[in-house]
Amino acid sequence: MYNKIQMTTHQEDKIRERLATVTGRIEESARKVGRDPQKIRLVAVTKTWPADMVIAAYKMGIRHVGENRAEELSAKRKEVAAKLPEVDDLVWHQIGTLQSRKTKIVAQYADSFHALDRIKIARRLSNQLAEIGRILPVFLEVNLSGEGSKSGFLLNNWEENATQRETVRNVIESIAQLPCLDMQGLMTMAPWGVHEDMVRSVFRRTNNLAEWLQEQLPGIPLQELSMGMSDDYWIAVEEGATIVRIGRAIFGSRT
Ligand SMILES: *Cc1c(COP(=O)(O)O)cnc(C)c1O
Repeated sequence: MYNKIQMTTHQEDKIRERLATVTGRIEESARKVGRDPQKIRLVAVTKTWPADMVIAAYKMGIRHVGENRAEELSAKRKEVAAKLPEVDDLVWHQIGTLQSRKTKIVAQYADSFHALDRIKIARRLSNQLAEIGRILPVFLEVNLSGEGSKSGFLLNNWEENATQRETVRNVIESIAQLPCLDMQGLMTMAPWGVHEDMVRSVFRRTNNLAEWLQEQLPGIPLQELSMGMSDDYWIAVEEGATIVRIGRAIFGSRT
């Protein structure tokens, strides 16, 4: 399911070094635009890495980890819990898209879900959460670049397209009514391999969309913005991200 490798001291030192670079750059970018760096949460993306990597990251001060596959999240979470039974402040984020037959795993094992992209998934999750008495913070995944391969609600032209705007507003209203989901805000991914200006524009437009939705739906908080990965997190921070999801820039390439 994921690599079982033994971590060396050298490897740990490298990770500590990269982590310092990442947190430094987050702070710097926040200050540059007059934001409080403390308000930006780092989710360290541990997908494909073993439970021991999560434990090493925890010992370096990481308190939020992200996984994109539900089975991997649950298996790793159980393994970490067995190895560090006293730890109760490690937060597990499901950041990847979910198939409806996997919702139960997320309902049971995730502390937050960033890639909600269908009402059907939302309903299933809420029902399953109700059965076990849990509330799950969720983010609506939005696609502002229009890239075909990207998941999320298509909002590539939301400023001009009233249908896209109506759709997203209605979706958020419906999800907010589900008893066991706690709507946090929007999540997005920048398109790959494009100019920095394009990436910045996607993040900025996502932030604008969140503001528009807050005006439209004053009763629903939508304060959080999950955006920014290894290649673009500093841009995301400058454009209002409150949560960045970073893997390779901390742990190295996944090979
Ligand atoms: C893998 C992944 C990340 C982190 O990607 P990096 O390029 O390693 O920083 C962030 N978000 C999602 C949804 C992912 O699947």
